[in-house]
Amino acid sequence: MKKMNCPQCKINRFRVLNEAGEAVVVTVNEQYEVIPVHPEESLEGFDINVLHCLGCSWVGSPRSLTSKH
Ligand SMILES: [Zn+2]
Repeated sequence: MKKMNCPQCKINRFRVLNEAGEAVVVTVNEQYEVIPVHPEESLEGFDINVLHCLGCSWVGSPRSLTSKH
């Protein structure tokens, strides 16, 4: 499945955070669905509208990602 990329550094892995500051690593598909890299992890309680790029300082919403490489 195609993944959406960071508009700055073009990698496709991001962190989402919960109120406790815990992080889950996710990818985003072309339907802008946020999916945990490890399927057993739950996104309950995590803010999936704010992605933190693992490769650079970019922070933004799934809709601002790019499909370009
Ligand atoms: Zn980035």
